[in-house]
Amino acid sequence: MEGKRLPLVPSDHPVLHKTASKVPKPAEVRGLVADMLVTMKTEGGVGLAAPQVGRSVRLFVTGIGDQRVFINPELEQASDELIWWEEGCLSLPRLLGDVQRPGQVTVAATGLDGKRFTLTADQLYGRVIQHEIDHLDGILFPDRMTDVTKIRELTEEEWQSRFQNKRLHDEEM
Ligand SMILES: [Zn+2]
Repeated sequence: MEGKRLPLVPSDHPVLHKTASKVPKPAEVRGLVADMLVTMKTEGGVGLAAPQVGRSVRLFVTGIGDQRVFINPELEQASDELIWWEEGCLSLPRLLGDVQRPGQVTVAATGLDGKRFTLTADQLYGRVIQHEIDHLDGILFPDRMTDVTKIRELTEEEWQSRFQNKRLHDEEM
């Protein structure tokens, strides 16, 4: 299915700050998923959650290696080991912040085929999964920072150059 680019909602939009509801039937979000995959790619992101495009449903996509769709994801396991990672977010342009989270997670989710799958991920992939699940619970990365005053604000120029860099290296969430 061919998708189209969707606009990202602004960071103060209420949809980004509330809990999203479950997707009743995966087949019904087929069009939305196609649009989200195009949007993620166009924006240069490696992950995109439905609330970021104004839809309050429990669904996100990732683009690390292969593109993958996670419908109604549940975090099943998280490692005791916590690691720091500098996070950015397509919904919070120009902001970066260090966030500590489990280094490895196991997530269960439904794919577009309606089948449940389980995936264990670490490094960037594990990080993106946790960041995107947070979006479904109305949580943005600054909410996870132990000291939000440490947030870094880049100039538009710095952000754009990082962003172009990110488009090459695939690290924006
Ligand atoms: Zn984000």
